[in-house]
Amino acid sequence: MSVLVKISATASTPKLHRTAAAAFEKLRTEVRDGSGIDFLAKLADALRPVNFVSDKDGVANRSWHKTGRAFDYDQTSKALVIVSEIRAGRQFFRTYLGCAKQDGSQGHRRTVADYRGGSVSGSLFDFTAEAESFGFKRIPAWKGWQKHYNRREFWHYQLDEGLSWAQAMKELEGGSGGKVYGLNDRGSVVKQIQRRLYELMLLPVEEVDGVFGAITANAIISFQRSVGVDADGVVGPRTIAALRLK
Ligand SMILES: [Zn+2]
Repeated sequence: MSVLVKISATASTPKLHRTAAAAFEKLRTEVRDGSGIDFLAKLADALRPVNFVSDKDGVANRSWHKTGRAFDYDQTSKALVIVSEIRAGRQFFRTYLGCAKQDGSQGHRRTVADYRGGSVSGSLFDFTAEAESFGFKRIPAWKGWQKHYNRREFWHYQLDEGLSWAQAMKELEGGSGGKVYGLNDRGSVVKQIQRRLYELMLLPVEEVDGVFGAITANAIISFQRSVGVDADGVVGPRTIAALRLK
């Protein structure tokens, strides 16, 4: 059973890890009730396939989107008010939503400076604070964000539960309690897996090096598709069994 579950929002792949999905649904409701805007009905991004690589500026290949624990909100909403915040020397942004009702029944009256220029006064809903109350964290903008839109990251929220990225990736197929192998793992079992993929003509011989990289992950995904196992690029007990390793 996969730990990934479907979420109610629209996105190219509307799925998240079940912990993040549960928090997301509560957050969507709170934001809608608090601001009068169903801001999270549509997402710019949620789950990304494990073998997703991009040359697009600012798109991380070791992304939390691959763990099913991150979402990017829709940046086209007219309600958005984005405020610059420097924390521990790093560039963050706080997201407010201009509330649907401006009669004082929603949000709080504030005057803030939008980083895109100009000040905004009105009933604002603090989206960032609400997301943080459900465990979703912001990430800082990448260096050079002033010149490169994709590096701003103000739209990105992730719920990592204190896990490292590698641990979170392993959790994708960790439900069965068996050992799992994924990106950046090394060793003799990885080599065995690769040798088997080579025998199946899914991996070139020079990739049989005991290091689980993106090419191995892609080969695993092809293999998983061919045998009807969840194509997540992570090798757990079911994939091991299908590979007939031991
Ligand atoms: Zn993101």
